[in-house]
Amino acid sequence: MDDLSADLSYIINHLGEDRSQFLNAAAPPIYQSVMFAFQTVAEMRHTIQHESELPFYTRGHNPTTDILRQKMAALEKAEDALIFSSGVAAISAALLANLKAGDHVVAVQKPYSWTNRLLTEWMPRFGISVTQVDGQDIAQYEAAIRPNTRILYAESPNSWTFEQQDLRALAQLAKKHQLLTVVDNSYATPLLQNPIEMGIDIVCHSATKYIAGHSDAVAGVACGTKAMMQQIFNAEYMTMGGVASPFNSWLLLRGLRTLPLRMERVAKTTPEIVRFLEAHPAVAEVYYPYSPNNPQYELAKSQMKQPAGQFSIRLKADQMEQVEAFCNHLKRFLLAVSWGSYESLIFPACVLYDSENYQGSVLPWDMIRFYIGLEEPESLLDDLRQALDAVWPQ
Ligand SMILES: *Cc1c(COP(=O)(O)O)cnc(C)c1O
Repeated sequence: MDDLSADLSYIINHLGEDRSQFLNAAAPPIYQSVMFAFQTVAEMRHTIQHESELPFYTRGHNPTTDILRQKMAALEKAEDALIFSSGVAAISAALLANLKAGDHVVAVQKPYSWTNRLLTEWMPRFGISVTQVDGQDIAQYEAAIRPNTRILYAESPNSWTFEQQDLRALAQLAKKHQLLTVVDNSYATPLLQNPIEMGIDIVCHSATKYIAGHSDAVAGVACGTKAMMQQIFNAEYMTMGGVASPFNSWLLLRGLRTLPLRMERVAKTTPEIVRFLEAHPAVAEVYYPYSPNNPQYELAKSQMKQPAGQFSIRLKADQMEQVEAFCNHLKRFLLAVSWGSYESLIFPACVLYDSENYQGSVLPWDMIRFYIGLEEPESLLDDLRQALDAVWPQ
């Protein structure tokens, strides 16, 4: 029984699941109950005083959600975690619980779109200012620090172009200036990258992606110290109330069972697809942290244990019509947002622009974001070949 807590399959299969409490059911029940009743006033009083730890009201604590909470904390090597109704709910709660009017945040540029909206539009409405920097260069974070800076925010790798921030260097910088660090770790999952081990304070996930893994539940997670999670619980978790439903927690528990297998598959197949695209004459650029051609490849290897399933490309297209034709020709990739599940997806940036006025757009109009699912790589490669040949005949 020594060191079982560090054993991945122990965490995923057993941690937090006291099966003797529910007739030794192998899969945990869904506690689809709003509240929990007590035998005595004293029992009820004790429970309300420990509302984040004990079943009282499901916005605070729910036994099904609590199993997931324990597993996510263990996977991120954190003392505690909180489970939210979405990734954005987790990120906004983690940030806002540590900010007040007059404070300043230094954040990576080009984070997930709604995180960006939170930083650039929502926070300024309440007197919080934000400076966004190129996070590939930690010196840019340092240069942006002001006397009222409270948080350094990172998303590594970030969305669409997957630039990384050196998380160890960021944590050191934060300690030097006594600032809090928050990292969105959705891309890598807790299996590939553990920012808390590198000195980061709070790790957030869009559990909608790899953790759920089946395109059927929206959820989020924040991980950190017990004291920090209690602070978030008493602030944005309970007041904004963006908590996961027991049913979604159960779906996430089910998704988590196969996370290591799914990540193993993706780590094998995605680099194959990337190599094919890097060598294709119609592809101008590939953005993938775990490609030897990526300028941050060494950093990727030093902070992520293995490759993950998301990358972007730019096509050598003269007009948006060519990008659209290529996407429309693909039969094995769903044209859809999100990522992290069993099925391969594409999201072309040109969706964000109208077909008249797109030259000079912020995200290049010839860029396509890919997510590689669990399919046989050969079927995906065949599909890519026929779609490329249809638009750029060899
Ligand atoms: C999808 C995503 C989010 C938002 O998560 P939701 O669960 O949709 O709220 C946050 N960060 C990253 C990197 C994402 O890809």
